[in-house]
Amino acid sequence: MTSHGQTAPADAVPEDARAHLFNDRNLDRYRRAVTEGVERVARRVARADRPFTGVSPARLAERISGIDLDRPLHDPTAALDELDEVYLRDAVYFHHPRYLAHLNCPVVIPALLGEAILSAINSSLDTWDQSAGGTLIERRLIEWAAGRVGLGSDADGVFTSGGTQSNLQALLLAREEACAKAMAGSPSLPRHEILRRLRVIASADGHFSVTKSARLLGLEPGAVILVETDERRRMRPDALARELDRCRRDGLQVMAVVATAGTTDFGAIDPLPEIADLCGHADVWLHVDAAYGCGLLVSKTRRHLLNGIERADSVTIDFHKSFFQPVSSSAVLVRDAATLRHATYHADYLNPAYAAEQRIPNQVDKSLQTTRRFDALKLWLTLRIMGPDAIGELFDRVVDRAAQAWELINADPRFEVLAKSQLSTVVFRYLPPEGPARKLTDDANLHARQALAASGQAMVAGTKVDGRHYLKLTLLNPETSLDDIAHVIGLLAGHAERYVTERSPLHCGTA
Ligand SMILES: *Cc1c(COP(=O)(O)O)cnc(C)c1O
Repeated sequence: MTSHGQTAPADAVPEDARAHLFNDRNLDRYRRAVTEGVERVARRVARADRPFTGVSPARLAERISGIDLDRPLHDPTAALDELDEVYLRDAVYFHHPRYLAHLNCPVVIPALLGEAILSAINSSLDTWDQSAGGTLIERRLIEWAAGRVGLGSDADGVFTSGGTQSNLQALLLAREEACAKAMAGSPSLPRHEILRRLRVIASADGHFSVTKSARLLGLEPGAVILVETDERRRMRPDALARELDRCRRDGLQVMAVVATAGTTDFGAIDPLPEIADLCGHADVWLHVDAAYGCGLLVSKTRRHLLNGIERADSVTIDFHKSFFQPVSSSAVLVRDAATLRHATYHADYLNPAYAAEQRIPNQVDKSLQTTRRFDALKLWLTLRIMGPDAIGELFDRVVDRAAQAWELINADPRFEVLAKSQLSTVVFRYLPPEGPARKLTDDANLHARQALAASGQAMVAGTKVDGRHYLKLTLLNPETSLDDIAHVIGLLAGHAERYVTERSPLHCGTA
């Protein structure tokens, strides 16, 4: 007998497995389980006075490996108690205003509502017969996003799992367009010979997924040419022009230039109009990686920073970075919908040619994935409940705050701060006093970051610039105040100073 409305104690005989299925008979169980889950999350968030507990991997590994996955608890409450021990208590909380490490945003509630709905209905966005309206909703959002970019009336695109996949797909399309062009020019040239000569040009600060994609796409090791950046870490158009010339002289074919609209470390936006001019002259595909900077598309005050993006052949947008959406939510957009055909393959059981003739819309023809989440629903509800201006305001706030943080750290003699971000990062390092202690600079910064994370008081990121260790703040939380930042800077300085003092030859135990 199944027990509707009752939770079995842990030692009870397992009930009918069908009672766990999401369907009309088990809606009470569904409501109770999801509500209890939401309640647990709310309780944890209410109590989180730090972004992290600082728990060590070894401690958590012990707890997690101690669980016997072949002996179920048969009880959601017991399972949630256990989950609290192995996950919720020690998770890293991005909503916390002193989480300042990576490009993880606090999420907006309309998107969480979307997440709850999309996982229950579980539409799969590959074909109409697995999603119906979902297909059309995704298409409207792609149209909306391409409109914001300004890609013109032939634009299209598709949601992806993230910027990495968006970059990969954009470069796949660019590669196929380049191959077609090369083959048209010299029909006898074998494909492997064409592939051998393909090059991608990006700035030295571009995302590592560009290099990874080039390898996955069968390009030579070293096929990605990294050009210099200027004093604000933006791609130098003169350096790009030189590389384009050099490739032409060497008989190499540049299949794409990747401009970054918001580099991961420095929040730098490459000079898009100049780069677009050069790509136009050289007849080269322009991909703009706006995984981070896409939030400016809805900014009322800073949209102009993306000027030139409308001239791209393809664009990467990570809604799960600057649109305050839960992971995953990303899109690749293209100027010319026809180029998406390079991702189109037919399966008789799924997307047969006759379905296309009947004009039944499907998205699998445009995607690298087959079964695919209806992530678009989160953005849909966000736009329908909050609207784009509200998202733009949230992003503007973090960009404003980052500028203030830069000033604050720049005025602090204990620190050295690098190029001012156009978005919301700050790259800086603690500088020990002049003298022999300077040798400890790298180690002091590494230590400060680790000690801060271990305390759980705050989290910052680290990166390397010219071979030296730096600290990095990535601001994406509109609730982070300048006081929060001052507090974190103080903690970092304290950790670094103690480290240096303890190792300084003049240390006599009084510092
Ligand atoms: C984060 C990021 C990516 C990768 O996106 P994922 O969603 O993490 O796969 C690509 N490019 C830039 C500039 C990024 O900041």
